[in-house]
Amino acid sequence: MSSGLGAGLPLETGVPGVFLSPPGFERVIGLLRDGIAALTADEPFHRLVIPPVISRATIERAGYVAAFPNLLGTVHGYGGTPSGWARLKPLVESGGEWHAQQQIGDLVLLPAACYPVYATLEGRTLDEPAKVTVEASCFRQEATSEPGRMRSFRMLELVTVATDEHCLKWRAARLEQVEGWFTELGLAVSVEVADDPFFGPGRKVYQAAQRMQELKWELRVPVADGTVQAVASANYHKEHFGETFGITAGGEPANTSCVAFGLERLAMALIARHGEESTRWPVDVLAALGGGRRA
Ligand code: AMP
Ligand code: ZN
Repeated sequence: MSSGLGAGLPLETGVPGVFLSPPGFERVIGLLRDGIAALTADEPFHRLVIPPVISRATIERAGYVAAFPNLLGTVHGYGGTPSGWARLKPLVESGGEWHAQQQIGDLVLLPAACYPVYATLEGRTLDEPAKVTVEASCFRQEATSEPGRMRSFRMLELVTVATDEHCLKWRAARLEQVEGWFTELGLAVSVEVADDPFFGPGRKVYQAAQRMQELKWELRVPVADGTVQAVASANYHKEHFGETFGITAGGEPANTSCVAFGLERLAMALIARHGEESTRWPVDVLAALGGGRRA
Protein backbone atom coordinates (compact mmCIF):
# COMPACT_ATOMS: atom_id res chain seq x y z
CA MET A 1 0.00 0.00 0.00
CA SER A 2 1.42 3.38 -0.92
CA SER A 3 0.43 4.92 2.45
CA GLY A 4 2.84 2.51 4.13
CA LEU A 5 0.01 1.50 6.46
CA GLY A 6 0.02 -2.07 5.18
CA ALA A 7 -2.76 -4.37 4.11
CA GLY A 8 -2.73 -7.72 5.86
CA LEU A 9 -0.52 -7.99 8.92
CA PRO A 10 -0.69 -5.94 12.15
CA LEU A 11 1.36 -2.74 12.20
CA GLU A 12 3.92 -2.00 14.88
CA THR A 13 3.26 1.07 17.01
CA GLY A 14 6.71 1.55 18.49
CA VAL A 15 5.47 0.08 21.78
CA PRO A 16 6.28 -3.63 22.24
CA GLY A 17 3.28 -5.93 22.08
CA VAL A 18 0.75 -3.31 20.91
CA PHE A 19 -0.34 -3.38 17.25
CA LEU A 20 -2.76 -1.67 14.88
CA SER A 21 -4.85 -3.90 12.63
CA PRO A 22 -5.35 -2.96 8.97
CA PRO A 23 -8.58 -3.92 7.12
CA GLY A 24 -7.14 -7.11 5.62
CA PHE A 25 -6.27 -8.41 9.07
CA GLU A 26 -9.70 -7.45 10.46
CA ARG A 27 -11.33 -9.32 7.59
CA VAL A 28 -9.51 -12.47 8.71
CA ILE A 29 -10.58 -11.85 12.33
CA GLY A 30 -14.17 -11.54 11.00
CA LEU A 31 -13.81 -14.81 9.09
CA LEU A 32 -12.60 -16.48 12.29
CA ARG A 33 -15.65 -15.19 14.16
CA ASP A 34 -17.87 -16.64 11.40
CA GLY A 35 -16.00 -19.96 11.51
CA ILE A 36 -16.29 -20.22 15.29
CA ALA A 37 -19.99 -19.27 15.11
CA ALA A 38 -20.55 -22.12 12.61
CA LEU A 39 -18.57 -24.50 14.81
CA THR A 40 -20.67 -23.67 17.86
CA ALA A 41 -24.07 -23.66 16.13
CA ASP A 42 -24.65 -27.19 17.50
CA GLU A 43 -25.22 -25.89 21.06
CA PRO A 44 -27.34 -22.97 22.33
CA PHE A 45 -24.61 -20.56 23.43
CA HIS A 46 -25.49 -17.26 25.04
CA ARG A 47 -23.34 -14.63 23.32
CA LEU A 48 -21.82 -11.82 25.41
CA VAL A 49 -19.46 -9.01 24.49
CA ILE A 50 -17.18 -8.25 27.41
CA PRO A 51 -15.51 -4.91 28.24
CA PRO A 52 -11.71 -4.73 28.52
CA VAL A 53 -11.84 -4.06 32.28
CA ILE A 54 -13.03 -6.16 35.21
CA SER A 55 -13.60 -5.61 38.91
CA ARG A 56 -10.30 -5.84 40.79
CA ALA A 57 -12.08 -7.67 43.62
CA THR A 58 -13.26 -10.34 41.15
CA ILE A 59 -9.78 -10.91 39.79
CA GLU A 60 -8.34 -11.06 43.33
CA ARG A 61 -10.99 -13.60 44.41
CA ALA A 62 -10.46 -15.65 41.26
CA GLY A 63 -6.83 -16.18 42.26
CA TYR A 64 -5.30 -14.33 39.31
CA VAL A 65 -3.31 -11.82 41.38
CA ALA A 66 -1.80 -14.55 43.54
CA ALA A 67 -0.82 -16.65 40.49
CA PHE A 68 0.14 -14.06 37.85
CA PRO A 69 0.93 -10.72 39.57
CA ASN A 70 3.50 -9.97 36.88
CA LEU A 71 0.98 -10.20 34.02
CA LEU A 72 -1.84 -8.13 35.52
CA GLY A 73 -2.36 -4.59 34.28
CA THR A 74 -3.87 -2.38 36.98
CA VAL A 75 -5.89 0.79 36.42
CA HIS A 76 -4.80 3.79 38.44
CA GLY A 77 -6.30 7.27 38.68
CA TYR A 78 -5.70 10.59 40.33
CA GLY A 79 -7.89 11.07 43.38
CA GLY A 80 -6.19 14.16 44.83
CA THR A 81 -7.19 17.82 45.00
CA PRO A 82 -6.92 20.42 42.23
CA SER A 83 -4.24 22.30 44.19
CA GLY A 84 -2.28 19.06 44.62
CA TRP A 85 -2.48 18.57 40.88
CA ALA A 86 -1.23 22.10 40.26
CA ARG A 87 2.03 21.01 41.92
CA LEU A 88 2.24 17.81 39.86
CA LYS A 89 1.23 19.24 36.50
CA PRO A 90 4.62 20.76 35.56
CA LEU A 91 6.11 17.28 35.92
CA VAL A 92 4.10 16.10 32.90
CA GLU A 93 6.04 18.41 30.63
CA SER A 94 9.41 17.90 32.29
CA GLY A 95 9.05 14.11 32.12
CA GLY A 96 8.98 13.85 35.93
CA GLU A 97 6.91 11.60 38.21
CA TRP A 98 3.52 13.27 37.74
CA HIS A 99 1.96 9.90 38.59
CA ALA A 100 3.48 9.58 42.05
CA GLN A 101 0.04 10.07 43.64
CA GLN A 102 -1.97 7.88 41.28
CA GLN A 103 -3.98 5.34 43.24
CA ILE A 104 -5.13 1.89 42.29
CA GLY A 105 -8.84 1.80 41.37
CA ASP A 106 -11.64 -0.75 41.58
CA LEU A 107 -10.99 -1.99 38.02
CA VAL A 108 -8.09 -3.86 36.40
CA LEU A 109 -7.46 -4.71 32.76
CA LEU A 110 -9.12 -7.98 31.79
CA PRO A 111 -6.49 -10.76 31.50
CA ALA A 112 -8.79 -13.46 30.01
CA ALA A 113 -12.29 -13.31 28.55
CA CYS A 114 -13.98 -15.96 30.70
CA TYR A 115 -13.57 -14.46 34.22
CA PRO A 116 -16.59 -12.10 33.99
CA VAL A 117 -18.85 -15.05 33.18
CA TYR A 118 -18.12 -16.84 36.47
CA ALA A 119 -18.57 -13.63 38.46
CA THR A 120 -21.88 -12.92 36.71
CA LEU A 121 -23.19 -16.36 37.72
CA GLU A 122 -22.35 -15.74 41.39
CA GLY A 123 -24.75 -17.43 43.80
CA ARG A 124 -26.75 -19.25 41.11
CA THR A 125 -27.98 -22.82 41.16
CA LEU A 126 -27.83 -24.20 37.62
CA ASP A 127 -30.47 -26.74 36.59
CA GLU A 128 -28.78 -27.21 33.24
CA PRO A 129 -25.31 -26.38 31.90
CA ALA A 130 -24.65 -22.68 31.29
CA LYS A 131 -23.07 -22.19 27.85
CA VAL A 132 -21.68 -18.82 26.92
CA THR A 133 -19.46 -17.42 24.17
CA VAL A 134 -17.53 -14.28 25.00
CA GLU A 135 -15.16 -12.01 23.15
CA ALA A 136 -12.96 -9.39 24.78
CA SER A 137 -9.81 -7.36 24.41
CA CYS A 138 -7.38 -8.76 26.94
CA PHE A 139 -4.20 -7.36 28.44
CA ARG A 140 -1.17 -9.20 29.79
CA GLN A 141 2.07 -7.47 30.73
CA GLU A 142 4.20 -9.90 28.70
CA ALA A 143 7.95 -9.52 29.17
CA THR A 144 8.89 -10.58 25.64
CA SER A 145 7.37 -9.93 22.26
CA GLU A 146 8.21 -12.68 19.77
CA PRO A 147 5.75 -12.95 16.84
CA GLY A 148 2.26 -13.49 18.19
CA ARG A 149 3.08 -12.50 21.78
CA MET A 150 1.22 -9.28 22.42
CA ARG A 151 0.25 -7.26 25.46
CA SER A 152 -3.12 -6.27 24.03
CA PHE A 153 -4.96 -8.98 22.09
CA ARG A 154 -8.45 -10.37 21.54
CA MET A 155 -9.72 -13.62 22.97
CA LEU A 156 -12.89 -15.43 21.94
CA GLU A 157 -13.96 -18.09 24.40
CA LEU A 158 -16.54 -20.85 24.69
CA VAL A 159 -17.43 -21.35 28.33
CA THR A 160 -19.53 -23.91 30.14
CA VAL A 161 -20.51 -24.08 33.81
CA ALA A 162 -22.08 -27.32 35.03
CA THR A 163 -21.26 -30.66 36.69
CA ASP A 164 -17.78 -32.21 36.52
CA GLU A 165 -19.02 -34.94 34.20
CA HIS A 166 -20.46 -32.44 31.73
CA CYS A 167 -17.45 -30.11 31.81
CA LEU A 168 -14.93 -32.89 31.17
CA LYS A 169 -16.94 -34.45 28.32
CA TRP A 170 -17.66 -31.05 26.78
CA ARG A 171 -14.02 -30.00 26.83
CA ALA A 172 -12.86 -33.29 25.27
CA ALA A 173 -15.44 -33.03 22.48
CA ARG A 174 -14.67 -29.38 21.76
CA LEU A 175 -10.91 -30.02 21.80
CA GLU A 176 -11.30 -32.77 19.21
CA GLN A 177 -13.62 -30.60 17.12
CA VAL A 178 -11.27 -27.60 17.16
CA GLU A 179 -8.29 -29.78 16.26
CA GLY A 180 -10.25 -31.04 13.23
CA TRP A 181 -11.25 -27.49 12.32
CA PHE A 182 -7.64 -26.27 12.37
CA THR A 183 -6.69 -29.17 10.10
CA GLU A 184 -9.47 -28.16 7.68
CA LEU A 185 -8.01 -24.66 7.77
CA GLY A 186 -4.72 -26.09 6.52
CA LEU A 187 -2.89 -25.46 9.81
CA ALA A 188 -0.28 -27.98 11.00
CA VAL A 189 -1.66 -28.42 14.51
CA SER A 190 -0.23 -30.25 17.51
CA VAL A 191 -2.29 -30.78 20.67
CA GLU A 192 -0.24 -30.78 23.84
CA VAL A 193 -0.76 -30.89 27.60
CA ALA A 194 0.29 -27.47 28.91
CA ASP A 195 0.54 -25.29 31.99
CA ASP A 196 0.09 -21.64 32.87
CA PRO A 197 3.05 -19.31 33.62
CA PHE A 198 2.62 -19.18 37.42
CA PHE A 199 4.92 -16.62 39.10
CA GLY A 200 7.18 -17.15 42.06
CA PRO A 201 8.69 -19.99 44.08
CA GLY A 202 5.64 -22.33 43.98
CA ARG A 203 5.58 -22.22 40.18
CA LYS A 204 6.97 -25.67 39.45
CA VAL A 205 4.61 -27.40 41.86
CA TYR A 206 1.51 -25.72 40.40
CA GLN A 207 2.62 -26.43 36.85
CA ALA A 208 3.35 -30.08 37.59
CA ALA A 209 -0.07 -30.50 39.25
CA GLN A 210 -1.77 -28.80 36.30
CA ARG A 211 -0.03 -31.08 33.82
CA MET A 212 -0.58 -34.24 35.84
CA GLN A 213 -4.33 -33.59 35.96
CA GLU A 214 -4.34 -32.51 32.29
CA LEU A 215 -6.22 -29.34 33.20
CA LYS A 216 -4.89 -27.42 30.19
CA TRP A 217 -4.44 -28.49 26.57
CA GLU A 218 -2.97 -26.19 23.96
CA LEU A 219 -3.41 -26.26 20.21
CA ARG A 220 -0.14 -25.10 18.71
CA VAL A 221 0.44 -24.03 15.09
CA PRO A 222 3.07 -22.02 13.15
CA VAL A 223 2.11 -18.33 13.33
CA ALA A 224 5.12 -16.89 11.49
CA ASP A 225 8.37 -18.15 9.98
CA GLY A 226 9.98 -20.38 12.55
CA THR A 227 7.58 -19.53 15.39
CA VAL A 228 5.02 -21.98 16.72
CA GLN A 229 2.54 -20.60 19.26
CA ALA A 230 -0.57 -21.78 21.07
CA VAL A 231 -3.50 -20.35 19.09
CA ALA A 232 -6.10 -21.88 21.41
CA SER A 233 -6.35 -23.64 24.75
CA ALA A 234 -8.93 -25.99 26.25
CA ASN A 235 -9.12 -25.66 30.02
CA TYR A 236 -10.82 -27.51 32.86
CA HIS A 237 -10.82 -25.58 36.17
CA LYS A 238 -12.57 -28.25 38.26
CA GLU A 239 -14.62 -26.57 41.06
CA HIS A 240 -12.29 -23.57 41.42
CA PHE A 241 -14.67 -20.91 40.10
CA GLY A 242 -17.81 -22.67 41.31
CA GLU A 243 -16.47 -22.61 44.88
CA THR A 244 -15.12 -19.07 44.62
CA PHE A 245 -18.38 -17.62 43.31
CA GLY A 246 -20.87 -19.93 45.05
CA ILE A 247 -22.25 -21.48 41.85
CA THR A 248 -23.98 -24.85 42.27
CA ALA A 249 -24.70 -27.60 39.73
CA GLY A 250 -26.02 -31.10 40.51
CA GLY A 251 -26.03 -30.28 44.25
CA GLU A 252 -22.24 -29.62 44.26
CA PRO A 253 -20.02 -26.62 43.58
CA ALA A 254 -20.20 -26.16 39.81
CA ASN A 255 -17.27 -27.08 37.59
CA THR A 256 -16.16 -24.97 34.63
CA SER A 257 -14.41 -25.49 31.29
CA CYS A 258 -13.44 -23.04 28.58
CA VAL A 259 -11.97 -23.14 25.09
CA ALA A 260 -10.06 -19.93 24.37
CA PHE A 261 -9.07 -18.79 20.87
CA GLY A 262 -6.39 -16.11 20.43
CA LEU A 263 -7.84 -14.18 17.47
CA GLU A 264 -4.67 -12.32 16.46
CA ARG A 265 -2.51 -15.44 16.65
CA LEU A 266 -5.01 -17.46 14.64
CA ALA A 267 -5.27 -14.72 12.01
CA MET A 268 -1.47 -14.57 11.80
CA ALA A 269 -1.31 -18.35 11.39
CA LEU A 270 -3.84 -18.30 8.54
CA ILE A 271 -2.02 -15.45 6.79
CA ALA A 272 1.34 -17.24 7.24
CA ARG A 273 -0.18 -20.34 5.64
CA HIS A 274 -2.42 -18.89 2.89
CA GLY A 275 -1.18 -15.35 2.26
CA GLU A 276 -2.43 -11.85 3.04
CA GLU A 277 -5.18 -11.83 0.39
CA SER A 278 -7.93 -13.76 2.16
CA THR A 279 -10.41 -13.40 -0.75
CA ARG A 280 -8.09 -15.71 -2.71
CA TRP A 281 -7.72 -18.44 -0.12
CA PRO A 282 -8.65 -22.02 -1.15
CA VAL A 283 -12.42 -22.58 -1.26
CA ASP A 284 -12.33 -25.39 1.29
CA VAL A 285 -10.53 -23.10 3.74
CA LEU A 286 -13.10 -20.35 3.16
CA ALA A 287 -15.88 -22.92 3.53
CA ALA A 288 -14.53 -23.71 7.02
CA LEU A 289 -14.69 -19.98 7.78
CA GLY A 290 -18.44 -19.65 7.42
CA GLY A 291 -18.21 -19.58 3.61
CA GLY A 292 -15.82 -16.61 3.47
CA ARG A 293 -18.66 -14.24 2.64
CA ARG A 294 -17.21 -11.25 4.50
CA ALA A 295 -16.61 -8.02 2.56
P1 AMP B 1 -4.45 -18.79 27.77
O1 AMP B 1 -5.49 -18.30 28.72
O2 AMP B 1 -3.06 -18.37 28.15
O3 AMP B 1 -4.57 -20.26 27.46
O4 AMP B 1 -4.74 -17.98 26.42
C1 AMP B 1 -5.73 -18.37 25.51
C2 AMP B 1 -5.27 -18.02 24.12
O5 AMP B 1 -5.13 -16.61 24.01
C3 AMP B 1 -3.89 -18.57 23.76
O6 AMP B 1 -3.98 -19.89 23.27
C4 AMP B 1 -3.45 -17.61 22.70
O7 AMP B 1 -3.96 -17.96 21.44
C5 AMP B 1 -4.06 -16.30 23.14
N1 AMP B 1 -3.03 -15.52 23.87
C6 AMP B 1 -2.61 -15.69 25.15
N2 AMP B 1 -1.65 -14.82 25.46
C7 AMP B 1 -1.42 -14.09 24.35
C8 AMP B 1 -0.53 -13.03 24.02
N3 AMP B 1 0.33 -12.56 24.91
N4 AMP B 1 -0.58 -12.51 22.76
C9 AMP B 1 -1.46 -12.97 21.85
N5 AMP B 1 -2.32 -13.98 22.10
C10 AMP B 1 -2.31 -14.53 23.33
ZN1 ZN C 1 -11.06 -19.16 29.87
